[in-house]
Amino acid sequence: MNTVADNLAHIQEQIKAACSNCNRDPEEITIIAVTKYVSTSRAQEAVEAGITDLGENRKEGLLEKYDIIGEQAKWHFIGSLQSRKVKEVIEQVTMIHSLDRKSLAKEINKRAKRPVPCFVQVNISGEESKQGLDPDEVESFIEGLKAYSNIKVAGLMTMAPHIEEEEQLRATFRKLRALRDFIRDKQYAHAPCEWLSMGMSNDFQLAIEEGATHVRIGTSLVGEQN
Ligand SMILES: *Cc1c(COP(=O)(O)O)cnc(C)c1O
Repeated sequence: MNTVADNLAHIQEQIKAACSNCNRDPEEITIIAVTKYVSTSRAQEAVEAGITDLGENRKEGLLEKYDIIGEQAKWHFIGSLQSRKVKEVIEQVTMIHSLDRKSLAKEINKRAKRPVPCFVQVNISGEESKQGLDPDEVESFIEGLKAYSNIKVAGLMTMAPHIEEEEQLRATFRKLRALRDFIRDKQYAHAPCEWLSMGMSNDFQLAIEEGATHVRIGTSLVGEQN
């Protein structure tokens, strides 16, 4: 198995290339190492290689790794989050990428002791299996979060469909970006909505060319299993 440091060096080269294709500064991109498939020691290796942000999609995985790694990294919750589990992870997480319903917002607001930056998850591709709001629900959903002083809408998140066609992937990312621009331009105090969490191992370069600020990379950075 490759070291995380080797994988990271390769990914950083790919990010640089993607950024030069669209005149962006690689500094604008946050790499979130998705460690949901791997051990705590592999996650620790990622931190030692220079990774500052880790992503987990289950409470158990997050807490197990947080126990050892703690504040050496920022913790991103990237998967569907059951409301009853919010209180168990809210102190540990820096950001939540899967805000997709009012009941979850209400629970985060109630349990957090500080404003939590959240990404509203959007189902751009319309696949039944995907989490997230329909694009046309997003504006009123975000408006409705105004009363929750512990929720800050930092951006929008999506998962692209599992396909290879570049144009279809780009179209998905472009739609999320257009929606982000639309919300951002409204200048809601509770929803600056500046960020775009999109792009995974297979499509992060395209996502960056289409405006991603946060890429969530698992397989090609830390591997699938160890
Ligand atoms: C697993 C996961 C990723 C990382 O996927 P890879 O293809 O392994 O890079 C990114 N985002 C979410 C929401 C995930 O669940």
